[in-house]
Amino acid sequence: SSDAEYLISRIRSIPDFPSKGVLFRDYLPLMADAKGLQVLMNALEAALPVPADSFDAIAGLEARGFLCGPILAARLNKGFVAVRKAGKLPPATISESYTLEYGQASIEIEDTAVSPGQRVLIFDDLIATGGTAQAAARLIARSGGTVAGYSFVMELEGLGGIEQLGDYPCSSLVTMP
Ligand code: 5GP
Repeated sequence: SSDAEYLISRIRSIPDFPSKGVLFRDYLPLMADAKGLQVLMNALEAALPVPADSFDAIAGLEARGFLCGPILAARLNKGFVAVRKAGKLPPATISESYTLEYGQASIEIEDTAVSPGQRVLIFDDLIATGGTAQAAARLIARSGGTVAGYSFVMELEGLGGIEQLGDYPCSSLVTMP
């Protein structure tokens, strides 16, 4: 669609960042563009993987899921839950580790951020291998919540990230080679 073309036209691609061999996809220029931000937010809302009345909150992943996640939550009259990198949140927290290309990382939520039975949509700017999003889903489950689905702006092609998420409803706006 022309919306997808517009989104892609404003996403910047940076070779060898943050390390050699990585092609980093940056949606900050898209957000900096007034039309781009409108197109992006309208598209995220239109492409929700489940109806808006089937979840209660959006969980955004640090850092780039913090930029549009709360905007989307406010547009849909939902709460926003911050999933942070380890060591940033005051206690008490719930923590989950996941595997990166080199080594391990952990993400955390406050242990009262999700209430039992709450249905949560997980949001991030980009899914690559899916490891981060899966760790976020484990956090939601351990806190007594239910994962309603996943929403991403970008999906990296050929890494199988979406398939790793299993049967959960999932949407991404654009696929990047
Ligand atoms: P995954 O866990 O799916 O392999 O990696 C996704 C996580 O790494 C997301 O939190 C995402 O923001 C970050 N990430 C990985 N590659 C890129 C990239 O090319 N651009 C951006 N913006 N984030 C990336």
